[in-house]
Amino acid sequence: MFGRGAETGDQGEGEAGSEVSTKDAHPTGAEIQQVPTVGGSVEGGCLCGAQRFTIRMNDKEPIHPPTYCCCRMCQKCLGAPAGLYMCVDRENFTLTSTAEVKTCETWHTTCRNVRMFCSKCSAHFAFESPKDLPGMVTVAVCCFDFPDSYPPVEGVFCSTKSQWFDLGGVTGYDVWSPGLTKVFEDYAEKIKHAEETASQQSTRDD
Ligand SMILES: [Zn+2]
Ligand SMILES: [Zn+2]
Repeated sequence: MFGRGAETGDQGEGEAGSEVSTKDAHPTGAEIQQVPTVGGSVEGGCLCGAQRFTIRMNDKEPIHPPTYCCCRMCQKCLGAPAGLYMCVDRENFTLTSTAEVKTCETWHTTCRNVRMFCSKCSAHFAFESPKDLPGMVTVAVCCFDFPDSYPPVEGVFCSTKSQWFDLGGVTGYDVWSPGLTKVFEDYAEKIKHAEETASQQSTRDD
């Protein structure tokens, strides 16, 4: 489903990485592996390495596969034509370093996002919507140690996409995609159900 090897072609074996000093932080083309989306874990981190994270993969991860976001906030936040993000369950996302995380609140249509940055290098690596989508974390795929294993499947907010930015053949939607809309609805329903169950439980416990 996520394989696009035929389109990406050679990963530049031998040409990439001549200035690479840290093998783990900068895998060269020859070292990029196809990591299964289901099972195992995904590791990543910020530009300087002070922030590290692990995503535990299981049968429900990712909640939504990598998606380009071409909204103006992602563009401004990253200084790039798009962000590439993957939605995962908060329970499966762990910050494995103790470095301070800087945050910045932004609004994405009706959603209040809290973007996370490394306090040392300021790299943006994830965001949460604690009020609107509690329990979900949206992680920047290009901060993964092996981002090539997680290619984009679609693009959203392409109404503000630069004309010269090519989505590489995936479908772009003007605002949210049908797939992400369904994920948000299902997730909100799941969280609501969990809260109701918890409140019934606490009533019984009283
Ligand atoms: Zn950093
Ligand atoms: Zn965006």
